[in-house]
Amino acid sequence: MVKESTIRFVDFRSFSVYFLINIISTEGMNISLISSDKCRSRSFFSSFAGLLLLMISPTLPAQTYETQFARPLGQVLNEIGTRFNIKLKYDVDTTGKVVPFADFRIRPYSPEESLTNVLSLFDFKYARQDEKTYKIKAYEYPRRTPEDGKKQLSYLNSLYKDSAEWAIRRPALKKEYRERLQIDPVLQQRVATKPIFGKIRKFDGYTVQNMAIETLPGLYVCGSVYSPTGKGKHALILCPNGHWADGRYNSDEQTRFATLARMGAVCVSYDLFGWGESELQVGMPAHRTPVAEIVQLMNGLTILDYMLTRNDIDPQRVGANGGSGGGTQVVQLTVLDDRFTAACPTVNLASHFDGGCPCESGMPGMLACDGTNNAELMAAFAPKPVCVISDGGDWTASVPELEFPYLQRIYNFYHAGNNVTNVHLAAEKHDFGVNKRAAVYDFFVSSFHLDKTKCDESKVTIEPKEAMYSFGVNAEKMPANAIRDFGTVEKYFNKKADAKIHSDIDLEKRARNFVDTLKLNDKEKENRVFNVIKTHMKAVRDWHNEHPYTSVPAGINPRNGEKLTDVHRDVIACSAKPKSVHENLMNGLRKDLTEDQTDLILDLYTIGKYQFTLKGFKAIVPDMTEKEEQYVIQQLRMAREQAVDFKTMKGEISAIFEIYKDNCEKYFNENGRNWRQMYKTYTNRLKAEKEAKKKINIQ
Ligand SMILES: [Zn+2]
Repeated sequence: MVKESTIRFVDFRSFSVYFLINIISTEGMNISLISSDKCRSRSFFSSFAGLLLLMISPTLPAQTYETQFARPLGQVLNEIGTRFNIKLKYDVDTTGKVVPFADFRIRPYSPEESLTNVLSLFDFKYARQDEKTYKIKAYEYPRRTPEDGKKQLSYLNSLYKDSAEWAIRRPALKKEYRERLQIDPVLQQRVATKPIFGKIRKFDGYTVQNMAIETLPGLYVCGSVYSPTGKGKHALILCPNGHWADGRYNSDEQTRFATLARMGAVCVSYDLFGWGESELQVGMPAHRTPVAEIVQLMNGLTILDYMLTRNDIDPQRVGANGGSGGGTQVVQLTVLDDRFTAACPTVNLASHFDGGCPCESGMPGMLACDGTNNAELMAAFAPKPVCVISDGGDWTASVPELEFPYLQRIYNFYHAGNNVTNVHLAAEKHDFGVNKRAAVYDFFVSSFHLDKTKCDESKVTIEPKEAMYSFGVNAEKMPANAIRDFGTVEKYFNKKADAKIHSDIDLEKRARNFVDTLKLNDKEKENRVFNVIKTHMKAVRDWHNEHPYTSVPAGINPRNGEKLTDVHRDVIACSAKPKSVHENLMNGLRKDLTEDQTDLILDLYTIGKYQFTLKGFKAIVPDMTEKEEQYVIQQLRMAREQAVDFKTMKGEISAIFEIYKDNCEKYFNENGRNWRQMYKTYTNRLKAEKEAKKKINIQ
């Protein structure tokens, strides 16, 4: 059965092209198409079969210039697989995807170039799994190739050729990374209630106690505190969890925390957001959101805050250690908080992988300072001790060649090359196995002087996970105020967005009022003017909000040699906005409005400050000449027009008018008047009038 529609697209040219292709592929290039009858008949047969194939195949367009030599993606990839004898695995759906100029993209000498040429059209990529196997995947922003990592590190190195240049990059990086995580508005909403503790469980040389800390109202982070049995001040090691099977209850994890505790460090292990007992609060899907990244870091910082209030903790020895996603958190925590004194990121750190879960890379932190990576963020910890544990079986395979030499270079800026170490386990894979744990123990023995003689994993008791539940086996100890859905948590993260929406609404109302005052009676004109004003107001507001006065360094006012006030710094910050903001407003207004109407709008912007100030001048200088008045009017008109580009009435707008008022006073003084005297006379007259009024009232 051949459908009519299928036949229709097979035109004459494709017939002949297809005949030719089929004959060549069947008989080989060396056989002449017309050399013998036998040959001709075979060719004809195969061509006919091919033609039938062509006609019943709905996805195979004719291979011509007109059809862009288009072929289905799945078919093209199959051919690449066969041609280069490689196996392709698929993480993507190729159905319905068509490759234009398909065969022209194949490079006979390179399967990888061929794949790139074809896959890049669909934002797909390949990941080489071994010599003969490639996985076809969708583009992943946090995952790049070691080659990319090498290029980025080399670029970063070029930004700081010495310690002086690094000293400029480092604080800028830490600041912008933090801002891009948007963690501070969330940290500010935290409550400071007392942690909830479970019973202390005693083991050989250490104890374990469950703990739940309320972070945001009703949101808890649950964890377990592993402590040495000895008295005195101990080192603290924060142990954020990775995505291991069974999370922090995993036996590799328990073994590490307990062993470190036996050796003299208090270890705090705590749930990932949406995992463990957090799942009871927000559900597991909440984990794969950018909110998870912020909450997990907030959890770490809140636990740190609390632990440092305790008498059994030595604030000089504060470490962080975690594997995989937990290692990502280690890097992030050290960027966010200077109280850490040693860090041990395990099987995570690479310049070409940011961590594939939204809880690691859901926020755009890596875009800080035109692009950074985990190696550079870890370098910002220099010269404090860091040990990077890597293996040959995951993305950290590149550490000995790429990330470690990069880190050493930065540490050498501080003459602290010995403070950065790399334990690379080339034969191992992505886990937190015994050799990786041994490297962790060694690192904290050397950096925190833990007791190596107590390092014996056989003494550790692996507890059932139920024993580690802070809220009890049936969540019966969950506090009454505990949040039970992710939506309630999310609202703490959207405050800024909410505020902007409300601000937009208010701003548009104001712009609409301005236009209504004009009574234009022309809908189209009203809308044009409204849009011009609204756009201008938003530009002024956004610039003001994004350029706080603190962005201008405290300094001296060149006019009077006095310290710049905060308002002046604000005016300077807001004066830096593009000229077009002002020009677009004025041109837009003048296009549709008369001079008087434009003035009215400017007056509405500045709440009548122009008239008010002019009136003041006239009161102080009652015998003002026409020439003087013209000067004052000219100055105040300039003040008004300039002031519309500033946001705060009491602060910035008044400060702009002050500048022009000063000009007027100076003008009077330079033209035979004494401003001070005139002002004094004016205030005396006011006083006298007041007194007179009082007297009248008394009588
Ligand atoms: Zn995650």
